[in-house]
Amino acid sequence: MPKGAANAMILTSKILFNKVLKTYTGITLWPFIVLKDTEREVGQGRYQVLINHERIHLRQQAEMLVVFFYVMYAFYYMRNRFRGQPHWSAYRNIPFERESYEKEGDLNYLKNRKFWQWREFA
Ligand SMILES: [Zn+2]
Repeated sequence: MPKGAANAMILTSKILFNKVLKTYTGITLWPFIVLKDTEREVGQGRYQVLINHERIHLRQQAEMLVVFFYVMYAFYYMRNRFRGQPHWSAYRNIPFERESYEKEGDLNYLKNRKFWQWREFA
């Protein structure tokens, strides 16, 4: 089991994603992972990747004392927008997202991940 898995609290909310975060499937607000769909709905394999993506965010948030994660997340998003990127591209090019998307398929990634490794994706 990856480090941090034991203290991840996973919730499911249809309302949040159907009404507010319409194009997203999950969000991490330390120490919670909130997903649109249940494991039964997305299938076990896809679900594990989804959880891994969000767990990488949990690690990023914890090592930046949560608040600085959100400050930097917003900073990178705005920077990408000012550089002329459309919303989806600006979001995907946030270093925290780049790390999570690139490594979500590696279920052992968090076992060997270095402190502040997101910086390699900046
Ligand atoms: Zn993400």
